[in-house]
Formats: sequence, C-alpha cells, structure tokens
Amino acid sequence: MSDSLRAAAERETLRLEEAWRQAVTQDDGWFDATVPCAPGTPPWPGDTPFSCGWTMRLEAGDSVNLSSVTMSPHVGTHADAPLHVVAGGRSSDAIPVQPFNGLVHVVDVRDVRGAITLATLRDRLCVEEPLRVCLRTGASVAEGRFPESWCWLDAAAAAHLASRGLRLLGTDAPSVDDRVSKGLETHHALFAHGACVLENLDLRDVTPGPYELRALPMRLHGVDAAPVRALLRAVR
Ligand SMILES: [Zn+2]
Repeated sequence: MSDSLRAAAERETLRLEEAWRQAVTQDDGWFDATVPCAPGTPPWPGDTPFSCGWTMRLEAGDSVNLSSVTMSPHVGTHADAPLHVVAGGRSSDAIPVQPFNGLVHVVDVRDVRGAITLATLRDRLCVEEPLRVCLRTGASVAEGRFPESWCWLDAAAAAHLASRGLRLLGTDAPSVDDRVSKGLETHHALFAHGACVLENLDLRDVTPGPYELRALPMRLHGVDAAPVRALLRAVR
C-alpha cells in the first residue's frame, strides 16, 4: 500500500470512529439488553459455541474482510422457534415480530428458587394479564459463565397467562424451563397458546417495572431458533 493510500485509509478510519462515537453516545433512553454472540459467550453445555473464520482478509491483499461464522442459534440472546421442541413445528423464519415489540414487564425473581408460581409472579406485576413478561433471574450467561441453575415460570402458570393474552415470555436465563427439564413443559405451554420465547437476555442493569421492548428475531430459514437484538426503554 502506498503512503498516500495509507494516509487516506487512516483519515477514513478516524472519520468513521468519530461518527461512530457520536452515534453511540447520544442517549435516547434505549438500553441494549443483548448478550453478544462472541467467542467467550458460554453456550449450553455441549452446544456449538460461536466461532469466526475468515474467507478473505484486507491484510492478505483481498479487496474486503469477509468472515464466516459457526454457532448454535441458541448462543447469546435468541428466540426459540416451536420447531425447537415440537416435531414439524414452525421454524425460525416464521417467528412473528409483534410479540417482541411493545410494552413488557420486567420482573425481579432473583430470590426465587425452583418454579415461579402464578401467585408469586402476580405479586410482582402491576397488571393481571400482561402481554409480555421478562424474568430477571440473575442466573445468566451475561455473567460470563453458564449458570448451574435458575428459576423458571411454572408450566401451568405459563399456560394460564398465555391463554389470557401473554404473547412473550423472556428471561435472562438460558431457558424458560428448568435446566434439567427433559419435557420442556413451559416451552410447550407457551407455544401451544401461540406465545413466543426470548432467552439469554442481559438484564443485569434493568430494574423491575414496565419497559418498551424492541427486539427482532433474525430471519434465519428453517432452523429452531433465531439470534435477537433486544432493546429496552423505561416507560415513564
Ligand atoms: Zn433456546
């Protein structure tokens, strides 16, 4: 690379860095609740972690940097598709977006051990029949390691709420079910009523209360889950 080209590339880098800095420091109230897909993000034990290879590299004289990513769609923040637990169920590209966008109630359940009953959840909610709920269990891969255990919404409670309009159950834990569950009853209860599942949120800095949620499941075709970017903004 010639000196003038290198100087132009450095100026371009500086200009982009400044534009980027200005964009990300504008506080519009939105909080990023996404666990990134990164080499260090703990997958479910035995699942495929994130890894990145390079097909082309600028430093090798190629015209672009071009990466190639391998990972389970359950790494980082993601939406499960019914196909995850139901043979022949709808796959990731059919996950609707409406359940992931709108008013959500973040509930602090960090003190709960085992299943969260309907009564416990209702005690901590300001509405009887929420459309969207996100559980802050405190047991999250956002902490940098895969948690030993976490609390989860009891399947009967999930079925009850989903039959009365719940469209989304989110959690900061790796699953809406118990870690050792083989029946995945809460997943089934939610999907049976058309509700959606959002897992591995980063809620470490999120206090309980109502929020606006903006989250979009990636339109990956034919698989059992989709990576999600999830944003929260407090409702004042
Ligand atoms: Zn999942």
